[in-house]
Amino acid sequence: MKITLIDLKREYLLIKEEIDRAINEVIENVSFAGGEILDSFESNFAELCGVKYGIGVSSGSAALDLSLIALGIGKEDEVITTPNTFIATSEAITHTGASIVFADCDKETYNITPDEIEKRITKKTKAIIPVHLFGHPCDMDAIMEIAKKCNLKVIEDCAQAHGALYKGNPVGSFGDCGCFSFYPSKNLGAYGHAGIVVTNNENLATKMRLLSNHGRFTRYDYEVEGYNYRMDTIQAAILGVKLRYLADWNKKRRNHALRYDDLLKQTAVITPITRDYVTPVYHLYVIRIKQRDKLREFLKSNGISTGVHYPMPLHLQPAYKYLGHTRGDFPIAEELTDTVLSIPMFPLLRNEEIDYVVEKIREFYKTSTSSF
Ligand SMILES: *Cc1c(COP(=O)(O)O)cnc(C)c1O
Repeated sequence: MKITLIDLKREYLLIKEEIDRAINEVIENVSFAGGEILDSFESNFAELCGVKYGIGVSSGSAALDLSLIALGIGKEDEVITTPNTFIATSEAITHTGASIVFADCDKETYNITPDEIEKRITKKTKAIIPVHLFGHPCDMDAIMEIAKKCNLKVIEDCAQAHGALYKGNPVGSFGDCGCFSFYPSKNLGAYGHAGIVVTNNENLATKMRLLSNHGRFTRYDYEVEGYNYRMDTIQAAILGVKLRYLADWNKKRRNHALRYDDLLKQTAVITPITRDYVTPVYHLYVIRIKQRDKLREFLKSNGISTGVHYPMPLHLQPAYKYLGHTRGDFPIAEELTDTVLSIPMFPLLRNEEIDYVVEKIREFYKTSTSSF
């Protein structure tokens, strides 16, 4: 058997007719920028997040950049985030001229912890960027309480958590705004690059809309200098179709996770831990094992592809050498880096494929002496 980490082709084939029709409609109308298709996707997605406004943008990275700029983050400011994330999260901080302050994460949920955030707050702290990593929401009540107490902005990085719930409410509805990526492999993926920022704050929405489109509301009247961060209409058309499948596909991911959880219980691997107050969306199914690289090789030789998210925490990356961190500064993030393994997870994964993956993991243990 050959099993990939994700399988976008299987998804496309299932909804091919609808997708092809949506793409063709955009081409036939030669309406490639803006328009009703984009407007309607923006409002449908905002509705899914339980908020009033959605501003479609060119990527999740653009969503983060735009949020921080529109919230007035800049030079002399500090922004707290996790070292256990994709670099777009921290890049957005640097892009504004502000300084990155990392805070360690939780060993069980892999998410930034409120306690560690609190320890890093200084007079210069302006904002927190919690990342709902792998589709498991952060502890938003505790984070919002800290933000309120210290007058901090909260920008939720929801790039891996479309449709995830924290105490029954969607991610993206807690902070000042929520940033989503529609990179092809995300839970809601475009056929290229796209993203969205959602918010309940009308002023902020207006500002982000303005900045995303060269600082203008009409064709050649520029209020301020902005950016070309707009979403392509063709991506909005594709996303509009796929949005209708999101809830069902997230549910399928949760069912796959349950099957993995159950079958892997009898092995020594550590399976993902889900807090009882969240509904996660398993962007990835991440297990932990000491002999990670050996298991990875073994699975590969049996036709199973896996991933490592992430092989090096941000604070130890060459890009952040200037921050002066060393190994030991964020021990949890570092330990995760050495032990995490993402095994195949996508909505149309088949039960027999899950069973095969687990069978091979069991086989690995028979031939190795690892204790977890
Ligand atoms: C994918 C991702 C981003 C960036 O999104 P792009 O659309 O690729 O720019 C940001 N943060 C996290 C946590 C991500 O996983």
